[in-house]
Amino acid sequence: MKKPKHSRDAGIDELKVGGLTLQGVTRGGVETCLMVPELKLMFDVGMVPGGALGYGTILISHGHADHLGGLAYYLAQRRMTGLAPPKVHVPEEIVEPLGRIFAAWGEIAGRALEVELSGHAPGDKVELGRGLTAYARRSTHRVPSLAWVIERESRRLRAELIGRSHTELAALRREGVEITQPHREIALCVTGDTQIELLREDPLVGSARVLVHEVTGWDDRRDVAATRRWGHTHLDEMIEHAERHFSGEALVLVHRSMRHSRAEADRLVRERFPAALRERVHVFGR
Ligand SMILES: [Zn+2]
Ligand SMILES: [Zn+2]
Repeated sequence: MKKPKHSRDAGIDELKVGGLTLQGVTRGGVETCLMVPELKLMFDVGMVPGGALGYGTILISHGHADHLGGLAYYLAQRRMTGLAPPKVHVPEEIVEPLGRIFAAWGEIAGRALEVELSGHAPGDKVELGRGLTAYARRSTHRVPSLAWVIERESRRLRAELIGRSHTELAALRREGVEITQPHREIALCVTGDTQIELLREDPLVGSARVLVHEVTGWDDRRDVAATRRWGHTHLDEMIEHAERHFSGEALVLVHRSMRHSRAEADRLVRERFPAALRERVHVFGR
């Protein structure tokens, strides 16, 4: 018997970049769910891979089933395990239809799904607590979709105190001197499914320290025009535009189509990205 091409055997990948750990599953048209333990944030739900249930805040890019198909299961499992209703942030256009799905599922299961659902428009600023702010940006896809940009506030040593010894700093602290100051950085952007226009036209996206960007098409088996027709990014476009528009520390390429193996993708990054960028480019997803 011929093995189905889209079997769900992708497996969880892990990558540590820019002070963050990225964990999850991401294959175009199959399943996408990205977990970031340091931020306690999850991006899309996929089919609820291992570890996903522990995340109480989820930022959703769009409603295609490979990104959101596991939502009802995730909510039911959270409730069954006694975990609090999660906060789920979605594009505003899908709030109402999701409500209908939840109602139907509650009717089928004999128990309501519990969720704090909030809809967002491009440009929205969402305070997530814990020093984290999320910005919803308009990505370019076949359905209403959002890229999520995460700003993190932490405390850093005041600039004028850099170079002082531990003993000196401890003494200042004892005297009641405030030795740190708030530091804000765009720690992460997760694009979801999008055409390259997002990176080309939104400077906030390209400024992220870690940019998790989709690249669905990797060669001529589906060329640039066909990849764009499906609302996705092709490797040729990323190579053409990344150097100019990405200024961060790590560019992580996700959502590879099942046509392309991980080994092929790693090779194409080595061979095709300009030397100045190559060291900052990572392939993610088994
Ligand atoms: Zn997708
Ligand atoms: Zn999609």
